Amino acid sequence: MRLIIMGPPGAGKGTQAKFIAERYGIPAISTGDIFRANVSAGTPLGLEAKKFMDKGEYVPDAVTNSMVADRLTHADAAEGFLLDGYPRTLAQVEELDGMLAPAGHQLDAVLCLTVDRDSVVERLLARAQTEGRADDTEEVIRHRQEVYAEQTAPLIEVYGSRGLVVEVDGLGEVAEVTERVLGALAQRTA
Ligand code: ADP
Repeated sequence: MRLIIMGPPGAGKGTQAKFIAERYGIPAISTGDIFRANVSAGTPLGLEAKKFMDKGEYVPDAVTNSMVADRLTHADAAEGFLLDGYPRTLAQVEELDGMLAPAGHQLDAVLCLTVDRDSVVERLLARAQTEGRADDTEEVIRHRQEVYAEQTAPLIEVYGSRGLVVEVDGLGEVAEVTERVLGALAQRTA
């Protein structure tokens, strides 16, 4: 199973990604998590990524693409994966196509979590209290939402035209959303 989970910042991608990955026995690959791990470890990749992340900007495609390409060569991703936070730009969509095509692999579905803007700001501000993410201040959150609307939302149309989009309402209790997500995917991939 080769899946992508998409949605605006704070839609709950990371939370739902864990349940989906568990259900299908595939790794959840979060570019945000990989970047944050590199920032914590002080690697060159982390130092580069931090400059962009702290401002709510996207890390340059070249950096992100090669990181994902490398991650997808790991053995655990051979039979499938769930990408969380990638692709985020049209150039990344093409790049991912190029990573899959040589092996004859295809995406099975693109799960889109829908939420409204204001309720996610609340969620993210709450997360800032518990997780202390540097990019969870109201100003940076608003900027991340704008960048998402401009650069990432258009991807839904691209994948929609390929018939891959599965849309799920991301509002409500975590367990409720999980049930909706797993139900929609099961139906889609049956
Ligand atoms: P969220 O979806 O809550 O905004 P993520 O944890 O997915 O947060 O990503 C955090 C930050 O990591 C992004 O704002 C961006 O700077 C960087 N990032 C993650 N994935 C990508 C990507 N595919 N392309 C460029 N930058 C990325």
